[in-house]
Amino acid sequence: MHTLKAVTIDFEDWYQGIEQPFDTWDRFEERIQASSDKVLSILDETDTRATFFVLGWIAEKYPTLVRGIAAAGHEIASHGYDHEKLYETKPDTFRKQLDRARKATEDAIGRPVTGHRAPYFSITRKSLWAIDILEELGFLFDASIYPGTNWRYGIPDTPGTLYMLNDTSVVEFPVSTFDIPGGRRVGIGGAYFRILPLFMTRRALQQRDALGLVSNLYLHPWEFDPGHPLVRFPWKAMATHYFNLWGTAGRFRRLLHKERFTTMGAVIDTARDMGEIPRIDVRPSTDHE
Ligand SMILES: [Zn+2]
Repeated sequence: MHTLKAVTIDFEDWYQGIEQPFDTWDRFEERIQASSDKVLSILDETDTRATFFVLGWIAEKYPTLVRGIAAAGHEIASHGYDHEKLYETKPDTFRKQLDRARKATEDAIGRPVTGHRAPYFSITRKSLWAIDILEELGFLFDASIYPGTNWRYGIPDTPGTLYMLNDTSVVEFPVSTFDIPGGRRVGIGGAYFRILPLFMTRRALQQRDALGLVSNLYLHPWEFDPGHPLVRFPWKAMATHYFNLWGTAGRFRRLLHKERFTTMGAVIDTARDMGEIPRIDVRPSTDHE
């Protein structure tokens, strides 16, 4: 059955999404194997295929784990190598690190990797060069743009559905938007999924379905792991990081029993069959977004 809804997992361990320095990662307790088992069992139980954006460092360290996810029928894409924000990275460094990440991931699964999501949705007007590098390296789709304004990221006034940026051939699958009384909200997944009641997530997805718009729900393995350690990091991120982690697995299971999801690659193919993907122009900026 065709669906326009993709489910995606940013495949990183709990300490990688909370801005702990790269050179300290080896000191933290490994929890990704157990938390990914929880995610995979719910996907299996509901016969759902998902897209996993795998961090290159994880692919190097746990190739068997990543191979197992691919063998279960999920789509494997890249989340870069070291979880740096792209707008704080130089283009050459990004090219080198992404190439390393992709090679490690392809070595693990024995298949090409053609999708990408930047850490912290960090393709902004300041790092639009990243799309050109993705094209140069042969990537076919990207899922890194937040069509709004957030304290860390976002390109306001860009569409909440598929498009190609400027003159590149990379299909952008941005963070999904939905309308509520009072305005447009950006984000189906992550903290929004844990904070808002489940019926609001469903309503957002149904609203998009009714309009024929693609959607994507994003989560992380650590969101299924309420027992992961509490450490200090910027308070604005802490405020949402630990919220309702106990509820994630049950909510995710209920949602997947009710709504049909698939991989980003499959959704993009379905959308292409329905019509041409539009091209939009976005001006780069040298200022911090
Ligand atoms: Zn991440």
